[in-house]
Amino acid sequence: MRNLDLPITKLAGVGKVKAAAFEKLSIRTVGDLLFHFPSRYENRGLITPLAEGSPALVQSYVLTVSSLPKTARIGGRMTITKFRAFDDSGSIEIAYFNTPYIADKFHVGETFRFYGKLAEKGGRYSMSSPTAERFDPAKPLPALYAVYPLAAGLNANTLRACVRQALELAHGEIADYLPGEIRAAYGLPTLAYAIENIHVPLDADALGRAARRLAFDEMLESALAARLMKAAQTKITAERMEDIDLAPLYAALPFALTGAQRRTVDEIVADLHKGVGRDAPRMGRIIIGDVGSGKTACALAAIYLALKNHCQAVLMAPTEILASQHYADLAPMLEGFGFRVEKLTGSTTAAEKRRIKAAIASGECNLVIGTHALIEDDVCFARAGLVVCDEQHRFGIAQRAKLLAACPRAHMLVMSATPIPRTLSLVLCGDLEVSRLDEMPPGRQNVDTFFVDGGYRARLNAFIEKQVSAGGQVYVVCPAIEPDIGDGADDAVTVSAFDVPTEEQPPLRSAVELSETLSARFPQFSVACVHGKLRPAEKNDIMTRFAAGEIQILVATTVIEVGINVPNASLMIVENAERFGLSQLHQLRGRVGRGARKSYCVLVSDSKGERAVQRLRLMCRTNDGFIIADEDLKMRGPGDFLGTEGARQSGEGRYFRMAALCNDPGLFEDASHAAEQLLAADPSLSSDALAPLRARLDAVLKSGGETMN
Ligand code: ADP
Ligand code: MG
Repeated sequence: MRNLDLPITKLAGVGKVKAAAFEKLSIRTVGDLLFHFPSRYENRGLITPLAEGSPALVQSYVLTVSSLPKTARIGGRMTITKFRAFDDSGSIEIAYFNTPYIADKFHVGETFRFYGKLAEKGGRYSMSSPTAERFDPAKPLPALYAVYPLAAGLNANTLRACVRQALELAHGEIADYLPGEIRAAYGLPTLAYAIENIHVPLDADALGRAARRLAFDEMLESALAARLMKAAQTKITAERMEDIDLAPLYAALPFALTGAQRRTVDEIVADLHKGVGRDAPRMGRIIIGDVGSGKTACALAAIYLALKNHCQAVLMAPTEILASQHYADLAPMLEGFGFRVEKLTGSTTAAEKRRIKAAIASGECNLVIGTHALIEDDVCFARAGLVVCDEQHRFGIAQRAKLLAACPRAHMLVMSATPIPRTLSLVLCGDLEVSRLDEMPPGRQNVDTFFVDGGYRARLNAFIEKQVSAGGQVYVVCPAIEPDIGDGADDAVTVSAFDVPTEEQPPLRSAVELSETLSARFPQFSVACVHGKLRPAEKNDIMTRFAAGEIQILVATTVIEVGINVPNASLMIVENAERFGLSQLHQLRGRVGRGARKSYCVLVSDSKGERAVQRLRLMCRTNDGFIIADEDLKMRGPGDFLGTEGARQSGEGRYFRMAALCNDPGLFEDASHAAEQLLAADPSLSSDALAPLRARLDAVLKSGGETMN
């Protein structure tokens, strides 16, 4: 047995309890742990003189101990251990709590690198519980420390210690699954090197090389998997649909379709009508169209066609809110044609679920609209002919495949609001045919966009007041939920790992705090706050009240990013705009300007970083999502398209964990190149040299294996 396959409990310090915590991260073996990659890095290598320290930032200070540590009781069983330390520019008090034995570590005259946050009280500075490492100028300390996604029962230090043990155990065992020629052609280090340096980077350079290699692997695998799936897909038969007159549907719509919408519907109709008798090759098609380009109407036409052909249809949305909105939009119209539409989400009660599932199984329910609950609840369909996934920017091949497995004779239509650059769509949606909705419905206004710093706060408040007084509504988006939240929050924005350590980041504004500030500032208006920690029912309730105009100012995290439609909203303010990807900002901006009101987007950022400023200026220059996407790819690489959101979800999102963090624009093209090269030489990847790679691919595709054969 290889050490890599040893259970995690073989590591010193990991017993039953810790093993259960690791299990929550899907880590069972030593090898699993090595593939649990950091989400970011602490840079302890930048030493700040005490006099220049900032209480807002975690920083490194090299200080010499100047007083003997003293431990005192502070009520109950609590203790505090204190001593003083200094550098050339000043001195501070350092305190540790409830760890009296720590006193043995610090002796007068010894020098340590302390990593922590300064606190100031009455002009006196102190630091509590900083990380301390013995400092010896002759033996430089590493600068970069990995920070891992955690689970309850595991802390950062435990994880680091376990990873170090795992690296030692696995030494010499990490075999490479990439052929040497590919590594040489694209300048990639070995897998062993990459794994070692992603966890314990020698320096920033080594980290960059390691991340690039691991990101390359993810992209290559995705490109290969997509192509293999596409090849398999065309062999599957699905329900063939007769051409149906769509005129009654069009007559029921309050608008005429744009040229791009018509073209897209034609493409779908043609796909569904291929083949003979009752069998058509399964359609796999994605509609890529900017926010507001009218994807729903295209999906509606496809659904109508399926229902008229006596097939059932399924519409899966990424969030509860969006599922509700689709239900509200589509159900009345389809019910007008005599069809039955149901909604099934995580918050549907058990009794309701039973009733709906029975109606789906019997065929009485024609269209079901829902969230992931649809796949988790093993719903059985009488005759599913069409699956529509409104994915926004998630590209979950495995998840789609799971839904399709429950609908073996269904066609698949995917909607994506991220205008994906062409080069990326090869890797990201290589298994799908692409329809581009590159024409906006008539009368769409451009949203005027401004980029300001915090100094504009007063003017910004005046602008909010003006908008709301005139009857409009305002969104304010923040990157964090609560003040000082760690990176565990599900809709907080992760700081991109590989370009941050040296660039100072302005502190995060939090939604909860800002909504309190705005409530106090505008007592005459109704202010609410919505974020990912609320229960779905609460979220839904707030969104519904905002849509109804009862709430005028909605402070939110990115939960509102996905597809919500409130035509009366006229102002979008994004705090800490530097933390968001351009495509994400573009999505957020798309929440306003949906109705008749002249609309505005204000990007607030105190960042002095040149790149951040350049990116935000681009947002002010254009409203065209396809242009923004191309520029974003050029400036930042593919990370934003892969969705840091998705990456944080377990399961499919982990697929692009490294790729999402690696800001290397050329890497994507390299990976799809390599995929083509490999498949051209060996279409089924069955040669011995590719066996390890094929094995990995099979593992990746296993959850979607039903469509692979
Ligand atoms: P998205 O592509 O972002 O999903 P939607 O399908 O939600 O966009 O459409 C956005 C808005 O535009 C909706 O209010 C919809 O009713 C409207 N719309 C869609 N197509 C047209 C059209 N051809 N003409 C006018 N309005 C349209
Ligand atoms: Mg939509």
